[in-house]
Amino acid sequence: MTGAVGGPRVLLRRLREVMASPAPPDRRLDAVVRLIAANMVSEVCSIYVARGGEILELFATEGLKKEAVHKTRLRFHEGLVGEIAATGTPLNLSNAQTHPKFVYKPETGEEVYQSLLGVPILRAGRVVGVLVVQNRTQRHYSEEEAEALQTVAMVLAELVGSSELVRPEEVSATLERAATPSFEVLTLAEGIAIGRAVLHEPIIEIHDHVARDPDEEIERLNRAFAGLHQQIDRLMSAEDMKSGEHREILDVYKMFASDRGWQQRIHDAIASGLTAEAAVERVQIENRARLQKTSDAYLRERLGDLDDLSNRLNRHLAGKLGTAASDSLPDDAIVLARSMGPAELLEYDRSKLRGVILQDGSAMAHVTIVARALGIPLVGQAGDVVNRITSDELVVIDGDAGWIYISPSAEIVQSYQETVAARTERTAQYEALRDAPSTTVDGTEIELLMNAGLGIDLPQLERTGAKGIGLFRTEFQFMVGAQMPRLETQIEYYSQVLQAAEDRPVVFRTLDIGGDKPVSFMARDEEENPALGWRAIRVALDRPALLRYQIRALLEAAVGRGLNVMFPMIAELAEYRAARAIVDKEIERRQRMGLDLPTKVRIGTMVEVPSLAWHLEPLLAHVDFISIGSNDLMQFFFAADRGNPKVGSRYDLLSPPALSLFHHIISTAHRHGVPVTFCGELGGKTLEAMALIGLGLRRLSISSASIGPVKMMVRSLTLGSLETYMKDLLLLGDRSVRGRLMAYAHDHGVVL
Ligand code: PEP
Ligand code: MG
Repeated sequence: MTGAVGGPRVLLRRLREVMASPAPPDRRLDAVVRLIAANMVSEVCSIYVARGGEILELFATEGLKKEAVHKTRLRFHEGLVGEIAATGTPLNLSNAQTHPKFVYKPETGEEVYQSLLGVPILRAGRVVGVLVVQNRTQRHYSEEEAEALQTVAMVLAELVGSSELVRPEEVSATLERAATPSFEVLTLAEGIAIGRAVLHEPIIEIHDHVARDPDEEIERLNRAFAGLHQQIDRLMSAEDMKSGEHREILDVYKMFASDRGWQQRIHDAIASGLTAEAAVERVQIENRARLQKTSDAYLRERLGDLDDLSNRLNRHLAGKLGTAASDSLPDDAIVLARSMGPAELLEYDRSKLRGVILQDGSAMAHVTIVARALGIPLVGQAGDVVNRITSDELVVIDGDAGWIYISPSAEIVQSYQETVAARTERTAQYEALRDAPSTTVDGTEIELLMNAGLGIDLPQLERTGAKGIGLFRTEFQFMVGAQMPRLETQIEYYSQVLQAAEDRPVVFRTLDIGGDKPVSFMARDEEENPALGWRAIRVALDRPALLRYQIRALLEAAVGRGLNVMFPMIAELAEYRAARAIVDKEIERRQRMGLDLPTKVRIGTMVEVPSLAWHLEPLLAHVDFISIGSNDLMQFFFAADRGNPKVGSRYDLLSPPALSLFHHIISTAHRHGVPVTFCGELGGKTLEAMALIGLGLRRLSISSASIGPVKMMVRSLTLGSLETYMKDLLLLGDRSVRGRLMAYAHDHGVVL
């Protein structure tokens, strides 16, 4: 080790001494990391130990924050440490933060360290841990240094892979990594859930096998078939089933359900003396045996469809068409479904529902939106895994990493229970801040509002201590229903929202439909670029009745109190004026009719189309407030589709061009004395929120889950120097200033 304190042999000898000492194992590890750090002239040396379930836990560190020990956990493949463990090979990086696998664990404070050398700790050819050194500067670790660290890791394996650190069962669980079946799935709503499997569409258990009257059984079967056909036709006519994967499944169902051969075989089975249910079951057993043997992969894949269809038929026979939501649920239900609509999800008892696994499912599906609002972990694209889980089986969903475990070992369950407990503790810390002011160390108030869109979001207002709702997405109510909500329904809904908000302000955004938010009651032409297409205010101005009714409902619901209305996707002043004219007309209409009005109507617009950002001066004279919608604004600004995983996060929004645009909007609004809120997802991330506040922003509307972390950040922030620092960042040629901002936060004690 060049430049090291003592040569490698000296280090190894001292390591042996430390490891042979009678001190408790964690003390020995602490001494080991101190020794290695000093020897390698590294600011950081850390040891991660593999625990059951392919999890790497920080066990000892010199240089990172001590409170991260036993808290920071990474899954194999996650982050640089996870990559080293998963591949079993070292990583030597002089600029670790630009590596695509880099993930930031805020509790470690590792953001200021640029270079990283990490090696796997191997025992009997298996990865039992990872040893890492880090330096602040962009250091190039030499070949010899990398080799020396590997030698050190070999020596460490004695201790790290032993049962002194983790229980023996866990060591063997780590060694036999595939012992518990685990599957990669797509994360749709984050979070961890541990619970018992519940089949969304329960499997009918057959108690009566022998028919008393075969004719009656045939009649029952025919009625069940008729019901099944109707059910499939109904599903196929639903608007969101007109194309895509769901549609293909239904086409297959329709084909099978109409298959005469299938029907005939069930008839024959009844004729042999079975009840209709038993006959369906018997034919399915035959199908299964036949299809499992076939070499035709397509037919084998269809087996799950046929299983499902047979079960549906039996549910028609048993007259049990409801989902598991209407049955009694275990206290920790993990619901498994081939597909599920948002309304079906809402039928479940929230206090018992822990998580959902979908065979298909996508990020933009309505059920996903609802699951996120409910805070329920949801994973999709689980394929036939859904069929492999039986009712009441223990399941763990890791909705952060995108994994599920079926019947996991006690060690895996325990390690997830610990993670859940650590999160609960963090949530408790945030809850303790509920009534604390959201004020910086130097006394500037940052107003924190909440984004909402469903009735179920509303209790979060109380829970988080948000000052109001800065963005209420009214379209969700329109998206979950099959029909356009009637005027009375809308009035009732908005009244409930206002009632729940009590005296806090609520900003209702008028319908933002189209694009990625289709509604079933309105036919749409196929569009090549729906995000740039006929959506939001464009639909509203072309079909003014929709907006008129919505405004009518809002004015009625807000009688006697203030009403805030905001328009989405306004691209030019003329559009804003046209939309505003509709509100003015509705106000006049009420006046003419002698009806009461809200005490004050404030009207504003989202700034989420770049053109509007360059038309602010004239616009600001006509609005009561504006709100920056970074989700759309940034996808148009960088010409990168927010829903396309290949490009959605390609550009760092903490970059000079994006920050300059935000700065321009914020400062122009302030110059005109017009309040400006930031309501895109970005504002809910602590580092991004810090940057925006540094650009002059004083009001954020963020998801309820972000209020606690952002408030904690605000309360640790001293604004003074940040504002000057931000101005300098805007002038840089860097593609991202994330690293600089992280270092700033670290050096100034900002809690991220
Ligand atoms: C936005 O575009 O930033 C926004 C808040 O609106 P939505 O995410 O609903 O499009
Ligand atoms: Mg938007």
